[in-house]
Amino acid sequence: MTVGCQPKGLWIAVLLVMMSLLTSGCSKPQPEFSETVFTFGTLVEITIVGVDEATADLAYTAALDDLNYMHNTWHAWQENALARINNLLRTGGSFSLAPSILPLISKAKVLSEQSNGLFNPAIGELVNLWGFHSDERDDSPEPLHEDIQVLLDAAPSMQDVVIEGLNMHGTNDRIRLDFGGFAKGVAVDAVIEHLREFGIQNAIVNAGGDLRAIGQKDGRPWRIGIRNPDAEGVIASLEISGDESVFTSGDYERYFEIDGKRYHHIIDPRTGYPAMGTRSVTVLHNSGAVADAAATAMFVAGPDHWKTIANNMGISNVMLIGSDGRVQITTDMAKRLQFENGYAPAVTVIDTSKHQ
Ligand code: AMP
Ligand code: MG
Repeated sequence: MTVGCQPKGLWIAVLLVMMSLLTSGCSKPQPEFSETVFTFGTLVEITIVGVDEATADLAYTAALDDLNYMHNTWHAWQENALARINNLLRTGGSFSLAPSILPLISKAKVLSEQSNGLFNPAIGELVNLWGFHSDERDDSPEPLHEDIQVLLDAAPSMQDVVIEGLNMHGTNDRIRLDFGGFAKGVAVDAVIEHLREFGIQNAIVNAGGDLRAIGQKDGRPWRIGIRNPDAEGVIASLEISGDESVFTSGDYERYFEIDGKRYHHIIDPRTGYPAMGTRSVTVLHNSGAVADAAATAMFVAGPDHWKTIANNMGISNVMLIGSDGRVQITTDMAKRLQFENGYAPAVTVIDTSKHQ
């Protein structure tokens, strides 16, 4: 509540009530509840606005169950449902799937195809070879090129995952599914859907800076900060009201260094090495899953080719920061982003419709 909404006399009160109906800035603060849990390798904060505490508590319990279930099922390096699927896929034999798992795999296939295979959740073996299938990477050196080449020759892709009704089989014995490139997006979408079932219309689910927000906060849009890849703090902010997700892929999220060279966790399926040329990609889209997969794919595509992928995947809000610090943003994103004081990068605004 702003000070201007607290009247001293009756006529002032009437005037101010009328004004508050006209301006969202003076709307009454609604109850707000927030809960944080560590999952998906990050802190996930769920904020719910505008319902009573009992409803918020029920919704949290459901959301935490969702997150734990998804994290345990899809974790890429634990003995879980995904590990069993990976073992069966490599045998080539047909096996049946739990109906709850099928939509995720189907979605991954579609997004992978739209990204021209740059978002490729079938390259788990490569991710593992680079040492990113462990909570703490040890000091082992860069993998041998011969080992990378074996996997490049096998070229596992989502096309090697064949779905027939409720059955599935693999056609490549080097497939290893790793949904790390879009699992957070899928999870955030599922939680938002579940919150809505509780009648919640205003909420934000923030998984370490990757988030989806619905509705508003006290009649005002949610204000979102985008992290500076080079330093602490944010480089830009934007407003969300309605239903939108913001996902960023960055080379600072998981990496190790050997002799001053940074090796990060986003692998170019064409070379088998960490993708070159990009520091970070931020994507805005309704669906968290699509935004997450697209950010990973455009990170791999790099500063010269991301526009084609944006078009293929139906994304119009993108910011890409290149390894040289050059910032490219789409015309739609330019209308939304506000760069922070003190951060005034040279920005190239790109009309992606010219890159069909
Ligand atoms: P993100 O931070 O969303 O870009 O996802 C990075 C994670 O996705 C990595 O830690 C890997 O588990 C996985 N990954 C790496 N490279 C790719 C790729 N080209 N396509 C799909 N997933 C990938
Ligand atoms: Mg991603």
